[in-house]
Amino acid sequence: MKSTKLGTVPSHQYVLNDSLHQLFDAVNIVSVQGYDEERRVIYWNVGSELLYGYSKEEALGQKLEDLIIPISMRELVITAHHNWITQGTKIPASEITLCHKNGSDVSVFSSHVLFINQYNKKQMYCLDVNLADVKHAQSQAEFKDHMLKTIIEALPDLFFLMEMDGTIIDYHGADQKNLFVAPSQFIGKRMTDLLPDEAVSKFQAHIDKVLHQHGMTTFEYELNMPHGLVYFEARLSYLASYNQIVAIIRDISEQYKSADIIRKQAYFDSLTSLPNRFLALDRLSQMLLESERNEEQTAVLFLDLDDFKKVNDSLGHEVGDKVLIESANRLKHTLREVDIVGRLGGDEFIVLLRGIKEQHDALVITDNLLKAFRSPFIIDGRELMLTVSIGVAIYPENGLCASDLLRNADTAMYRAKDLGRNTSSFFSKEMNAMMIRRFKIEEQMHGALERKEFELYYQPQFDVKKRQITGAEALLRWHNSTLGNVTPDEFIPIAEHTGLIVPIGRFVLKQALYFLHQWQNIYQQKYTMAVNLSPRQFRDAELLSVIKNAIIDANVSAEDLELEITEGVLMIGQSQIHDALVKINALGIKLSMDDFGTGYSSLSYLRQYDFDVLKIDRSFINGIPLNKADCELVNAIISMAHSLGLTVVAEGVETLEQLTLLDKLGCDLVQGYYFSKPIPAKLFLDFAANYNLKK
Ligand code: C2E
Ligand code: MG
Ligand code: MG
Repeated sequence: MKSTKLGTVPSHQYVLNDSLHQLFDAVNIVSVQGYDEERRVIYWNVGSELLYGYSKEEALGQKLEDLIIPISMRELVITAHHNWITQGTKIPASEITLCHKNGSDVSVFSSHVLFINQYNKKQMYCLDVNLADVKHAQSQAEFKDHMLKTIIEALPDLFFLMEMDGTIIDYHGADQKNLFVAPSQFIGKRMTDLLPDEAVSKFQAHIDKVLHQHGMTTFEYELNMPHGLVYFEARLSYLASYNQIVAIIRDISEQYKSADIIRKQAYFDSLTSLPNRFLALDRLSQMLLESERNEEQTAVLFLDLDDFKKVNDSLGHEVGDKVLIESANRLKHTLREVDIVGRLGGDEFIVLLRGIKEQHDALVITDNLLKAFRSPFIIDGRELMLTVSIGVAIYPENGLCASDLLRNADTAMYRAKDLGRNTSSFFSKEMNAMMIRRFKIEEQMHGALERKEFELYYQPQFDVKKRQITGAEALLRWHNSTLGNVTPDEFIPIAEHTGLIVPIGRFVLKQALYFLHQWQNIYQQKYTMAVNLSPRQFRDAELLSVIKNAIIDANVSAEDLELEITEGVLMIGQSQIHDALVKINALGIKLSMDDFGTGYSSLSYLRQYDFDVLKIDRSFINGIPLNKADCELVNAIISMAHSLGLTVVAEGVETLEQLTLLDKLGCDLVQGYYFSKPIPAKLFLDFAANYNLKK
């Protein structure tokens, strides 16, 4: 036992173990080494060559501790081997780290056996299994475990591992805040036993689904937590090989909130928080389906605030916004729970009335809505009176779909405006025809000025006592090639609505004053010219300069011009109108209150502004002398006007009886068919010439 060469090793040491060696030679995944009593290598299989790097030739005859035992373990190994040989103290199998030929560590699981050969010599055999793969796998597993923990801690999600019946067997999650019950209370329990009913039914349905379809299923649910309502998204995944389900739960409250904000922006009006046009019409479509099923009626109300634009223009958008918010509140509070109110845009609202049995039901609610606007709006300490006009269309009578009903309610709303605002109107078939005509008029009115389709007619005014012509009122006529003659009662409101009254009004002023100049020149006499002014014209910032220029251009005196306005203009109560009236007065132009008796007939307006003329509306003159009440009223108006220093003009005098009575009552001037209808300029001059001749 001296040399390391195979040939020099005594052959008797091999003999005993030959069959074993053959076996060990055949396996190379286990390293087998044999050592004699002096710990010299007597056997070294291929497995040992592969594991420790020493060839059989290199190893044989070497001492164990010189080959693969790290220095630190040498003493220990020598002692253990010695004890085994001398005292029989077995070296137990264990995991140890030995040394490779190149100095690197070799982790092995080492088992040992002791043989006694035929020469009564003890031989120790070591069987080492390489643990490198196991170690690697182990550290991989540890790494993965650590990584998973880190990830789970970093994620906001909660992870539950469940049996197929929903029993929770494991849980991970960094954020305890969103746990509905503490882990100690839910481990071993079923998810479906812990949560409220609604969440349970979702979990149950999705557990069934994921077991059935495998893959992943996602759903949302909400829980009422001590810190508020929390929205969750759950993802369930079935681990088929383990028969387990992983539930990953995420708090999506933030997303939910943002989605909610987006939803609100898309469907609700930001100013009033009412459903917007899109949502309101969607609700209407749903309501129509219900109505059809239940054989009920649905009413669609189209509401438009009267003169809202004036509020906005004169008091600013902030006040306008507050008026809209307050209007929305009044509408909401007046309606039943089941009804819907939405904002269509601007000052337009829509109201949907569900389950209407007859038209009367809608009428009652419509009246309540009108009443809701009776009390003044108090905005920034200022009292504002605002009214609303309402158009009503009823399903199924006035339309079957949302858009038809809305259009017809809109048409009816226009009718309500025509009726004098602050009222409601129900859609009728005739209105449709009216609406079509209205559109045609609007269409044709564009360009009518340029096409010279407008002409002024003049109606003379007479002094009752002297029976002399004192002046005339300019009244506009429109002849259109497609529509024929259109009356001012029809086209003036449309011109007002579209704003076309502004350029048309300028034309009227110019034309009327030009004619006045002509007329005065012919007779070398003072006459007055009355020109009607619409409320809309007061919104024209240039109104005053237009009037001034017209006077200068026509070379007439300001006091010969009389501007007729109705109470409607004054009721708007705008500072802009107030200023314009004061300036008109200051220019020396006369102010005339037209159609007196048809509006509020408020004395306060007559006192507030410097009116010169009051015109009694034709409807009262019509009744005299037969209708006693009308006679008394006309009498009262004349005395009152006189007490205020106003000249009184009676409109629409058609008979001698009317003229005689008006004379008796002290009326100053008259105008009417009795003397002349409104006539074109040339005819008017002829008429005036003839009349003067007759006298
Ligand atoms: P208005 O200012 O009250 O004009 C008087 C209306 O009574 C005129 O109707 C006139 O033709 C009519 N009339 C006069 N005498 C009699 C009579 O004896 N019997 C009857 N039944 N009617 C009589 P017209 O010309 O159709 O004008 C209607 C309204 O249209 C006017 O009422 C006025 O408010 C408006 N209008 C007419 N021209 C203009 C205009 O140039 N600008 C503005 N802004 N409005 C105008
Ligand atoms: Mg008039
Ligand atoms: Mg009038």
